Amino acid sequence: MSNLHPFFDMAVQELNRRQTATLGDRSTYIGASDVAGCARKVYLQKQTPLQPDTTMLLKFSRGHAAEWLLDRIFTAGGGVYDTQVELTHPSEPMKAHLDFLFYNDFDGNPELHAIEVKSVSGIPDAPYPQWEDQLGFQLGLLRMQYPKGKISGSILAMDLNAGQVHQFNGYGYDEPTFNYLYCRGLHLLDVLNGRDEPRPSPSILCGYCAHRDGCPAFSSPPVDLPVEVEMLAQKYAELNVVKNQAEKELKSIRQELVDYTGPKFKGHSDRCDLTVSYVEPSMTVDGTLLKKHFPDVYPQVLKARAGYSRLEVKTIRQREQLSAAE
Ligand code: SF4
Repeated sequence: MSNLHPFFDMAVQELNRRQTATLGDRSTYIGASDVAGCARKVYLQKQTPLQPDTTMLLKFSRGHAAEWLLDRIFTAGGGVYDTQVELTHPSEPMKAHLDFLFYNDFDGNPELHAIEVKSVSGIPDAPYPQWEDQLGFQLGLLRMQYPKGKISGSILAMDLNAGQVHQFNGYGYDEPTFNYLYCRGLHLLDVLNGRDEPRPSPSILCGYCAHRDGCPAFSSPPVDLPVEVEMLAQKYAELNVVKNQAEKELKSIRQELVDYTGPKFKGHSDRCDLTVSYVEPSMTVDGTLLKKHFPDVYPQVLKARAGYSRLEVKTIRQREQLSAAE
């Protein structure tokens, strides 16, 4: 076996087909994630489905991995629950699939508790609105199926890399919320039947959308930031300030330490080791001089550098400070 990649790509596609088989033919019904998502994406995905590439499928499979792990954890803990519970609207082609449905609370009292699992890189400070809408729709269909008894739900955000789990808890069946989401479902059915326009509704999930190319939501900058993207951008800006302050402080502490140790040092205490080693001076190529004195050679020693996205976030305060300084 020499090149694994073609086999790997094929196997990932097959795994995805098997994992989503439990959801049935998604072009024939409106699901909870459709109701919570973007009408344009739902329309295009159902009319002209695009097969996600391996990278995207691997990202999606983090969700399945999180569910697989939680299933084993819940079983080990003796939880009474089912997985992938399908709920169907009695009159409209609308469905929801619950990741987990618990039948008791942790004191053994009867209660239906739906859990929607989200695999994340970094637990957000607050749940994304799409997650809450998805759960709200699930709880509505659950109430229709079980008109009596206690019903609740939560969103379990799981960061497998960091080994962190956070439960956004305290959700219950809410009639106005469900009615609103049900109307969104009806709107999607109108869109699919050509009776309404599939308007885009941008969110953090645009990063996973296969129909982003040509999406009108991104065609005329500046784009209005969805609330969860704004939340992340603000967090980025705050952490950047902390990082810059830390770098400044590190630089001055480093100088104080090296002033004490000199260029070579090894020391220790009960709490830490301190080592300073000296890097000998070395020579490097001066690109400007090379270009000036050897213009024929210069193009021959150039190598390609991959492009990248430069991210800059300015908070309103920083923007005001900057314009005041101008
Ligand atoms: S990029 Fe975002 S707004 Fe555009 S279709 Fe995809 S999910 Fe909708």
